[in-house]
Amino acid sequence: YKTLRLILGDQLNPSHSWFKHKDNDTLYLVAELKQETDYVKHHIQKICAFFSAMENFAHALSCAEFNVLHLTLDETQNDKNLPSLLNRIAKKYHCSAIQYQYTDEFRLKEQLSLFKQASTYNVTAVDSEHFLLPFSQIKERFSKNKHVTMEHFYRAMRKQFDVLMEQGKPEGGKWNFDSNNRNKFSKNDLVDIPLPKVFNNDVSTIIDRLDKHQVSYLGEIKNQRLQWPTTRKQAISCLEYFCENLLINFGQFQDAMTNQSEHNTSLYHSRLSFAINAKLLHPLYVINRVINEYRQRPNEISISQVEGFVRQILGWREYVRGIYWINMPDYARKNQLQAKNKLPEYFWHGSTKMNCLSHSLSQSLTTAYAHHIQRLMVIGNFCMLTGINPDDVDNWYLGVYIDAIEWVEMPNTRGMSQFADDGIIATKPYAASGNYINKMSDYCKSCQYDVKQKVGEKACPLNSLYWNFMHTHRSKLEKNPRIGMVYKNWDRQTEEQKAALLKQAAAYLVDLESL
Ligand code: FAD
Ligand code: SF4
Repeated sequence: YKTLRLILGDQLNPSHSWFKHKDNDTLYLVAELKQETDYVKHHIQKICAFFSAMENFAHALSCAEFNVLHLTLDETQNDKNLPSLLNRIAKKYHCSAIQYQYTDEFRLKEQLSLFKQASTYNVTAVDSEHFLLPFSQIKERFSKNKHVTMEHFYRAMRKQFDVLMEQGKPEGGKWNFDSNNRNKFSKNDLVDIPLPKVFNNDVSTIIDRLDKHQVSYLGEIKNQRLQWPTTRKQAISCLEYFCENLLINFGQFQDAMTNQSEHNTSLYHSRLSFAINAKLLHPLYVINRVINEYRQRPNEISISQVEGFVRQILGWREYVRGIYWINMPDYARKNQLQAKNKLPEYFWHGSTKMNCLSHSLSQSLTTAYAHHIQRLMVIGNFCMLTGINPDDVDNWYLGVYIDAIEWVEMPNTRGMSQFADDGIIATKPYAASGNYINKMSDYCKSCQYDVKQKVGEKACPLNSLYWNFMHTHRSKLEKNPRIGMVYKNWDRQTEEQKAALLKQAAAYLVDLESL
């Protein structure tokens, strides 16, 4: 072969221009690598989802008569990184040129850029043709260490890509319907939530391989069947299911959480993040399909459901990617609140008396999934209030979630949820007491703690931890106009009340394991 083309596990984009023409001089390489299973301890479902999707992609290419080499851990056990793999394969197949797509992760970009500089092969890198905002435009929209408001970015993207626009104005008369998107479930709402769309992918051979190569992982897969979509066809059917059954209520229940639906962890959410991040689906394809559903059922589906969904993909997803690339590698070291505590053990088994946390952790560990508010306002909030080191928090999220790839995981976790990034993403910490959890969920009803109590044995720990957090970081946060009111409320309390709250929090903080 003349050219070797590398396809990474999150570059399974069938519409890439590489596949517009077939040529017999090109060999495509899809390879499982130990460095990818081992850079953090991953959930077994996450490793299986990537390996299975890679295998399926290689198979589809091969059926379409491209020359493909799919290598498993059996064949790559001596390749310690991408350069060693590429050198070995290029030599074996007598290639003179090597091509790769720009990576989404800094870690791999470093590896491949160094390889490119030092290589004797003719090495070129091409766009991955996935994101809407061209990589070259990131530096026009974002500046290092500077806050960029997501809402401004999102509006610019709506205009640039002409999404939900009517003669230069936002469709429905408003850019943002967030205020309609904060409903809690009533008992009746819960009865009707459709079951999630799941698949039955046999991944037993992949699990055997992981065990054979002593890959260390967490979590389980029931009956060795993976429920996540790992082909483009499955990803499309997941999107179709979302449009037909879930979109109608997506926006209004976007932030709601519940204990009640054990079989229904994703509620009205789409479960598309893995498929989109692996590039099985293009973001614009997803957006257009959702808008098309809305156009066909205008009397049933309201603009606020659709806008809420579009904002996540056209807004947040593209935004966090911009923040990541403009700020890496320094972003990975940010710890503005100097959080140093260790992650409590229950993050690995879910067993804590705090029902909100126990439910969200157990669900994450069982399914490799939690929706946005569970990640942000339950697990993330707990970590921030208890001062857990953001490195530990990042590693936990990166390992546990099915969709976790550093470019999207880190800004969401370290930035949005931990406020460790000097306010680059959020203008204020997403800190909440038990009151917020009680407002958005039914977790508190079956909790051993009492959400209404602030001190005492039964008091919800989040109440005193919240005030302790605000008190500890007062000098940093007080001048923030969005937080001023909080300190007015704090100062209004008597000295005894304040002392009791701080004492209560201190007792939790010396023994987080006991919660
Ligand atoms: P839906 O609620 O149906 O949303 C639709 C799509 O919008 C998602 O599939 C996703 O592609 C996109 N999206 C929504 N919110 C965000 C966001 N904040 N950032 C980027 N894209 C978004 N998402 C990841 O893909 N990988 C991660 O590692 C990840 N880590 C997170 C960590 C924290 C602390 C928080 C608060 C959020 C994180 N998110 C991450 C964003 C979001 O929680 C997930 O994308 C979402 O829960 C995936 O489920 P879904 O596909 O059902 O999403
Ligand atoms: Fe969580 Fe507190 Fe409610 Fe218990 S009482 S579920 S700890 S918010």
